[in-house]
Amino acid sequence: MLNLEEIPLRQIKGVSAAKEQELHAFGIHAVADLLNYYPFRYEDYRLRELKDVKDGEKITVRGIIRGLPMLSRFGRGKVRLTSKVEVDHQLVTAVWFNRAFLKDQLTLGREITLTGKWEQHRMQITVSDSEFLDKGPAKTGTLQPVYSVGGGITQVYMRKTIRQALLQYGAMIRENLPPRLVDKYRLMPKSEAVLHIHQPQDTKNGAAARRRLVYEELFLFQLKLQAYRMQSRSRMDGVAHRVDGETIRQFAATLPFELTDSQKKVVNEILTDMRQPYCMNRLLQGDVGAGKTVVAAIALYAAVKAGHQGALMVPTEILAEQHLRSLGKLFAETGIEVALLTGSLTDRKRRDLLASLQMGLIDIVVGTHALIQEDVFFRSLGLVVTDEQHRFGVNQRSVLRRKGQNPDVLTMTATPIPRTLAITAFGDMDVSTLRERPRGRVPIKTYWVKHTMMDRVLGFIRRETDEGRQAYIICPLIEESDKLDVQNALDLHVQMSQAFPDLRVGLLHGRLNAAEKDEVMRAFGAGEIHLLVATTVVEVGVDVPNATLMIIMDAERFGLSQLHQLRGRVGRAGHQSYCVLVADPKSETGRERMNVMVETDDGFEVARRDLELRGPGDFFGTKQSGLPEFKLADMASDFAVLEAARDDAADLTAEPDFWHSPDYEELRRLLRQDQIFQGDLLD
Ligand code: ADP
Ligand code: MG
Repeated sequence: MLNLEEIPLRQIKGVSAAKEQELHAFGIHAVADLLNYYPFRYEDYRLRELKDVKDGEKITVRGIIRGLPMLSRFGRGKVRLTSKVEVDHQLVTAVWFNRAFLKDQLTLGREITLTGKWEQHRMQITVSDSEFLDKGPAKTGTLQPVYSVGGGITQVYMRKTIRQALLQYGAMIRENLPPRLVDKYRLMPKSEAVLHIHQPQDTKNGAAARRRLVYEELFLFQLKLQAYRMQSRSRMDGVAHRVDGETIRQFAATLPFELTDSQKKVVNEILTDMRQPYCMNRLLQGDVGAGKTVVAAIALYAAVKAGHQGALMVPTEILAEQHLRSLGKLFAETGIEVALLTGSLTDRKRRDLLASLQMGLIDIVVGTHALIQEDVFFRSLGLVVTDEQHRFGVNQRSVLRRKGQNPDVLTMTATPIPRTLAITAFGDMDVSTLRERPRGRVPIKTYWVKHTMMDRVLGFIRRETDEGRQAYIICPLIEESDKLDVQNALDLHVQMSQAFPDLRVGLLHGRLNAAEKDEVMRAFGAGEIHLLVATTVVEVGVDVPNATLMIIMDAERFGLSQLHQLRGRVGRAGHQSYCVLVADPKSETGRERMNVMVETDDGFEVARRDLELRGPGDFFGTKQSGLPEFKLADMASDFAVLEAARDDAADLTAEPDFWHSPDYEELRRLLRQDQIFQGDLLD
């Protein structure tokens, strides 16, 4: 049978080659994509009666032309057309703007429907849309889908094209959920749901269509996670790291500190997994400063001792450099070769490095995403550790898999996720949690002050730097504008340099190139810079133990977990450390956020309060969450569905039938598409 995913858009009547190209820009490549391009709301063209309508509402009513239309001109070439129309036995005035061409069509006695804004006191409708009944109205009486459109694709075109696609191909839409789940939740069948999400008969019918498609979306998402998990657990083609406990204990003994019980526990969990022949896929979550890096180092050490290579992947070059330094220190006496691979290497250096990696001359490579590009080959990659925010997606894993490498994967995150959310968001992973922080850590004192107290804040900077300590001052965040953030940073840098002419004030922001950033971080790490003005580029992972003061300007602009991340840049050694939030929040939740920060410096507690303040929707909305964006599902209102879908998906993938029975061919095909399941894997 022909597959809707393979039918090109041009087969749809009315789609030209040019339009086809423009549709590609919306991610619409085949008929299936078009049918799955759901509206984000509806315009209501259902007929109402005037007596039920409130002033100012947008309405559709039916009427009869009772007065000769009048044209008047105003402004620059603008026209206003008015006519008296009888609606529900009352005479109202209909007003059109810039529709002069309608004048001749508005003949006495003709029946018309008017859509527009109702003004009660003037008995007037400002018409945005009208249809003549004798022409066979298309919109009147319906809910019209509103799609996200742009460029050469207009709303009218999108509606028409999707309507046409439904006509031509609607009958080919196949059910893709197992019948028993459709029954269990009394879901609308797939083909009906697709039809009615675009063309709802009424709100109830539209809601039922949405309900079905939301469940489907979340179920398929969970199915991929669960299937992936099942697959990696049952495939014995991962790397079974052969390394004994004694080797690890000896290495741990060379560390400058004793591991916390929590660290020991997670190291054991990780090593247990690494020794198994399946692919580890584990999430390590721990508060900022909990000591995740050393756990990663031990895991990497184990990989190398077992005769393999390790990779540590981080989001920024600053972090890559820093990890390179800390691993360099930890492995100083071990003979382990650590190298750096980032996007800013020269071609020549990159070539040399890639050759050494492939020959196995390098044991551990630290870097940004450059690490998993197609041209990077390892002699024997045993473990990939990824740090902060960068979940190592299924796609990236399959890049490695295609190269014949199935490394264990450890993902670290400092945004603790409450358990219920974790199992859902990271449904494909096992989770290890670092609960305690290293002993001897003095809790960070957090203060919240108004801008009027800036003088005292400057005094604080003076006091700490006089003690030989260092400070960060973070500029306000301007949403989605890197450029403005940089301007802020420049301004703040000037102010601070004037306020402290005797100190060296550094500047760090996203527009510096890698070498510049690196130099600033090196100088700050070496204590040559006393006060560092920075944007949120220091948010993740930066580790300068001598820094004891974190000042965050306009703190109300930051989310709780981001504030907590920033605060985690201090308090990293034995010194008493401080975080000062400079903020005059206007909203109640803004004040609440500041209070949470003052009251607790436990990241799990911060996350819990954050979830409480924002609800799961927003919590998931943050980029740290690692959840993909859903087309229809909304994490705030559909959270219960997500949990149900997860259980259903886990049950289904646990059934041997799922992997063989023709009943599930359609679902397996979806998994194959995402390269999660490759037909032969389990056979
Ligand atoms: P994070 O979990 O935020 O990545 P890091 O790994 O950067 O934390 O560790 C924070 C600091 O704590 C580092 O300076 C590290 O050397 C130190 N540290 C880690 N583990 C211990 C420990 N068991 N005892 C004392 N200090 C430790
Ligand atoms: Mg870290």
